[in-house]
Amino acid sequence: MIIAIDGPAGAGKSTVAREIAKKLSWIYIDTGAMYRAVALCAINKGIDLTDINSIIKEVNDIQIDISHIDKEQHILLNKEDVTSQIRTSEISNGASQVAIIPEVREKLVDLQRQLANKDNVIMDGRDIGSVVFPNAQLKIFLTASSEERANRRYKEQLEKGKTITYNEVLNEINDRDNVDLTRAVSPLIQASDAILIDTTQNTSDMVINRILDLTKDKLGVQID
Ligand code: C5P
Repeated sequence: MIIAIDGPAGAGKSTVAREIAKKLSWIYIDTGAMYRAVALCAINKGIDLTDINSIIKEVNDIQIDISHIDKEQHILLNKEDVTSQIRTSEISNGASQVAIIPEVREKLVDLQRQLANKDNVIMDGRDIGSVVFPNAQLKIFLTASSEERANRRYKEQLEKGKTITYNEVLNEINDRDNVDLTRAVSPLIQASDAILIDTTQNTSDMVINRILDLTKDKLGVQID
């Protein structure tokens, strides 16, 4: 079974998906990490992210694997664990640049489909309900105002000791939304049968409980 959670950056997808996976004892897969790993690989090799041909060549050769340690996803780029290296602003922006390339998407979508062959999964991203798993049993589209999303990201960055202003975070979120919403292939879109949840006014616990209720009703899954 598959639960697809899509939505823009900072809507709370990963927090919610991780908790639901724990409650259901399912596997959580964060697909954004895969696009981030491709961007990291290109940046480390000094490839200009607008040089689409070089990125396509590179992506043909790279190996991306997902493993789970204590239920947390780890991402391996050519066997190296890069889980913590991919969480920078440079890589966030780079990920949305490489995500416009159809060949990159093809490779990562293949991997995402393989991962769901083995287990029940809850997967988050931008195109999971619309493209990767159009037959997912439950599709959620999580969103929130860009100001609220920027506010959450800004607080996270401060907690990590990063020096950044709220306006910088807001601009980054708006730029990334713009690239994700307007790309030609698999843009960020709410699938016609996805349930919209606006998290602007809701705590993550409220959103988690709502999705767990939907999981019980629609999938008939028992939750303790
Ligand atoms: O979810 P996260 O913010 O880590 O994703 C980074 C970028 O990867 C997104 O801005 C988007 O451009 C791209 N992405 C995508 N499709 C997905 C997941 C992420 O295009 N399924």
